This record gives sequence, C-alpha cells and structure tokens, in this order.
Amino acid sequence: MIEKYEDPFVKIANMIGGDEYLKVARSLLKAQDATDEEIASSTGLRINMVRKILYDLFGKALITGIRVKDERKGWFVYRWRSRKDEVENFIEKEKKKISDRLQQRLDYENSSQFYHCGNDDCLRVTFEDGLEQFFKCSSCGQVLNLKKNEKSKKAFSKKIDEMKKDMR
Ligand SMILES: [Zn+2]
Repeated sequence: MIEKYEDPFVKIANMIGGDEYLKVARSLLKAQDATDEEIASSTGLRINMVRKILYDLFGKALITGIRVKDERKGWFVYRWRSRKDEVENFIEKEKKKISDRLQQRLDYENSSQFYHCGNDDCLRVTFEDGLEQFFKCSSCGQVLNLKKNEKSKKAFSKKIDEMKKDMR
C-alpha cells in the first residue's frame, strides 16, 4: 500500500502500474544502481516482471540504466537508477495528455447534435447518422429523439478548467 509521505517517484510508479511498480520504485530508491536481479530478490518479484517494469520506466524516462561488466559472471549487466528530477516533468506531460483528451471530447460534444432512442443499451448517434437511418434506432428500432448534451459539455469544460488551473 502507498503511504502518505511516500516519495513522488514511488507515487508515480504506483500510479503507472500499481503494486509491482511500487515495489520496484521503492527498491530503486533504497539501493541506487541495483541490477534487475538485485531488485528481483529485494522485492520478491519474478525477474521477468522486474525487467518489464524497468523497461517501461526507462521508456518513460523515469530511470536510467548504466551498462557495466559483472566481474563475477563476466558479462554485461545494467545498473538502474531513479531519475527523481524527471518526476515533475512526467506529471506535467501526463496532465497535458489528459487535458488534451478532455478537450477533444468537448470538441466532439460541440460538433454535433446527438439523437437517442432512450434505451440504455443503445448508443446515441450524431445528426448525420440519425438522418441516414431516418431517425430510427439501428439496434432497437425505436424513434430517435434529440438528446441534450449540455450537462456533459459543462462537465468537460469544468474538468478542463480545473486541469488548466492545476497546471499553472
Ligand atoms: Zn435503441
């Protein structure tokens, strides 16, 4: 379980992938420059799982890996290190992604009027699609009526405003 006073690096890892990511992140903070095997034994996670998580965090620029020769085994291994300085950046990028997605949803809501048969199992359609099917629901055959979407528009706008305030 995540603790309140937990390092932001650990919190982000938990957000990305849950419990297993959290364990790997904590282990990375405890022992910088650990190998995947060391992390596996300190977390109790399977080595394949640890590698998958490390590559994912590496791909997100949240950790770096240094290739070093393991003198004992005679082959190269990676030593992994957290990039706590990248956490802020990562958070900002994710927030931007979410707010862009919300904006797209809002644009879509604004782009058309929507029609619906009133049946919860059926989807609403745009005006153009409604016209094409003579305003009859294609799944249940009921008449399609104009469905106001002011509420969802307002909800999207509100969320976007909140995110923008938060990003400043
Ligand atoms: Zn229907």
